[in-house]
Amino acid sequence: MDINKIGEFGLISRLTADIKPVQPATLKGIGDDAAILRYGDTALAVTTDTLVEGVNFDLTYAPLQHLGYKAAIAGFSDLYAMNAAPRQLLVSIAVSAKFSVEALELLYRGLKLACKHHRVDLVGGDTAPSVTGLMITVTAIGEVDPAKATYRNKAQKGDLICVSGNLGAAYMGLQVLEREKKLFEEDPAIQPQLDNYGYVVRRQLKPEARRDIVDFFASSGLLPTAMIDISDGLSSELLHICTASNVGCEIHHHKIPIADETVAAAEELFLEPLIVALNGGDDYELLFTIPVADYDKVVGNEDVSIIGYVTGREEGCNLVTETGTRIEIKAQGW
Ligand code: ADP
Ligand code: MG
Repeated sequence: MDINKIGEFGLISRLTADIKPVQPATLKGIGDDAAILRYGDTALAVTTDTLVEGVNFDLTYAPLQHLGYKAAIAGFSDLYAMNAAPRQLLVSIAVSAKFSVEALELLYRGLKLACKHHRVDLVGGDTAPSVTGLMITVTAIGEVDPAKATYRNKAQKGDLICVSGNLGAAYMGLQVLEREKKLFEEDPAIQPQLDNYGYVVRRQLKPEARRDIVDFFASSGLLPTAMIDISDGLSSELLHICTASNVGCEIHHHKIPIADETVAAAEELFLEPLIVALNGGDDYELLFTIPVADYDKVVGNEDVSIIGYVTGREEGCNLVTETGTRIEIKAQGW
C-alpha cells in the first residue's frame, strides 16, 4: 500500500494500534506529545523528533546554528505541552561527507544555546554517516509532577480553548524565504530582501518554546485540562485534542491571534491570513483547554488568547466567521 493513501497519522496508528504498555511506570505511551513515565513521586516526559534535510529544512536559507536551535526547541516544546520541565537532551546526527567539521560545530552551537536557554543538559546521542544530506534526531527528557501532566484526551465540554502567542508567522517566514530562494536561483546577482520580514523569518528560522506559559500555569495555580503544542497547525492540533477527548469545538475567526507582520506578509503573497494561521506549521505555540471557572486566571495574560470553547462530540469541530457562518474544521497538516 502507498503511504500517501493513509497519511502520516494513519501510518502511525496502523503500525502501533496493537501496542499495549505492560510496564506499570508507563502512564502514557503512544498518542501524546511525549510519553509519561512514572518513577516514585515524579514522572519523566520523553519525546523524540527527526529533522531531515530537503524535507524539514533547506540549508540554502536555514543557517546550521539556527537549525540546531530549532531541533532542540521542537523537543522542548513537546515537553512543555505535557506541562513538563525539560532536563536532558540526546542528539543523533547522520551526516554526509559534504559537511565540514566547522559546519557541524555551528549546528552544535545552536543546540548548546537552546540547552543553555532552557537549562538542559546535552547528555548523549549518536553519530552516523549518511549517503546524502543531514538528518538530526533529538530526544528530549523532562520532569513533571504526575498529577499535573497535561494530556490531549482530557478536554471537557464547556472548557475554554486558549492559545499562546500568535499563529501563522513561521509559515509566512517560510513563504518569504522560499520566494527569495526562487528569485536567487533565477538570478544569483539578486540579494535577498528580508529587511521587512524580520519577525516572520525569525519565527521560522529560530523559533522559541513557551517555557513562560508553563511557568505562568505554575505561578497562577492553573492546570489546563488538555494541552498540545502547535507544530502542524492549529486545525490539525485542535482535531487531535477533540478526537482524543471525544469532544467537539467552536472557535471564532476574530479571536485567533495573528501578528500584524504575518497579515502584511500574507496579503503581499496573496494568501488569506486566517488560512495561514489555521494550517501553517512550526509555530511552537501551546494550545490548551481550561475550565470556565479559571477564566479570571488567563484573561489578564496578554500572551494568551481565548479562541473558543469545547462542545459535545455531536456538534463537530467548527470555526465561526465574522459574519456568523459555521465552517467545519479540517486538518491540512503540515
Ligand atoms: P508531535 O507532532 O507532537 O511530535 P507526532 O504526531 O509526531 O507528535 O506523534 C504522535 C504520537 O505517535 C506520539 O505519541 C509519538 O510518540 C507516536 N509515534 C510517532 N511515530 C511513531 C513510530 N514510528 N513508532 C511509534 N510511535 C510513534
Ligand atoms: Mg507536539
